[in-house]
Amino acid sequence: MQVGERIVARCRELAGITDVEGETTRTFLSPAMRRANDQLAAWATEKSFTTRYDAAGNLHILRNADIVTQKTFLLASHLDTVPNAGAYDGPLGILLGLALLEEAPPLPFHLELIAFSEEEGVRFGFPFIGSKALTGELTEELLTRTDTHGINVREAITAYGLNPGELPEAILHPGHFGYLEFHIEQGPVLEHEDRALGIVTAIIGQSRLQLTFTGKANHAGTTPMHLRHDALTAASEFVLATETLARNTPGLVATVGRLTPYPGAGNVIPGEVALSLDVRHADDSVRHASVEALLATANSISVTRRVRITHTFKLDQPAVPMDTSLTGLLAEAAAPTRPLTLASGAGHDAMVLAPHLPATMLFLRTPGGLSHHPDETVLPSDVQLAFETGLRFLERIANV
Ligand SMILES: [Zn+2]
Repeated sequence: MQVGERIVARCRELAGITDVEGETTRTFLSPAMRRANDQLAAWATEKSFTTRYDAAGNLHILRNADIVTQKTFLLASHLDTVPNAGAYDGPLGILLGLALLEEAPPLPFHLELIAFSEEEGVRFGFPFIGSKALTGELTEELLTRTDTHGINVREAITAYGLNPGELPEAILHPGHFGYLEFHIEQGPVLEHEDRALGIVTAIIGQSRLQLTFTGKANHAGTTPMHLRHDALTAASEFVLATETLARNTPGLVATVGRLTPYPGAGNVIPGEVALSLDVRHADDSVRHASVEALLATANSISVTRRVRITHTFKLDQPAVPMDTSLTGLLAEAAAPTRPLTLASGAGHDAMVLAPHLPATMLFLRTPGGLSHHPDETVLPSDVQLAFETGLRFLERIANV
């Protein structure tokens, strides 16, 4: 069996470990998470790797360097899932990492594989509990948040048999010098471009705004067209202008996902429209300029259509770039597979780690772009290519 096929088989085996019969559902520190960790640890000890839990329930698997050193390279992904998940979002990154621990030639640094206990945010309504333990960002406020049973994060850790007082020991140490995360793309781009692998340049940033278009409601029968102040036709013009700008700006995605006209009756000219705007790009300056351009468009629509347009900013989340030199090495290692270079539209653990140590990500093609669904899949041949890329990448780091 090729390594790629073995990795896929192990992902399928883990997918059978679930809190809900007939699904793949594993949440932070649940009984199924313990069984999945036990299975991972069993595979790790077959090769005599050391395993340990940190206080956030992350499982660490360590392969020692062939020399005396503090230098440690991190491979990681998450073991938890969304409800009724597929087999690959998260676990694929862990099992690719485990295969690298098993198969890589002797290296002058330790390899540490981490199975994060939580990334999806299902149990406590906020994500990245696992990776935030490594960066010291599990604040007291987060630790006291509760799940639907009224149990807080700290209590959940204690109930699992771990000691929340030891959380500071989970924090990255100065020997950690780099981070690689494999993940399925969870989107259609690689498949559309007929590529197996993608080099991630950044986790994209996003702006969210609320706009209100105010015209004048009036009778749909008695008000002639040239005397109307229709808020919805003005908003519609803005929606199409948003689409046009995004289509004409490489890498930009912009969405009006909610549009609510008032009073919302069939025989009344809409007097007011509330509208949501979501704008995302890997480059914050492009994103900000695009938002400014859209607000200028709104301004000119307000003049020509004689409606008032106001806006409020709801979110301005910066992009998180991946480390350029590590990502350059990854691109070299992946070159034989003709990888695509792309930004991630979704958040990942790498986003939490990247501000603290050089981090990079490799995406694998997601057939049908389907994820967070039991039918989520990968091609074993793509997994094989990702594994071989990982081997070449580690050799390159060893020679830097
Ligand atoms: Zn994921």
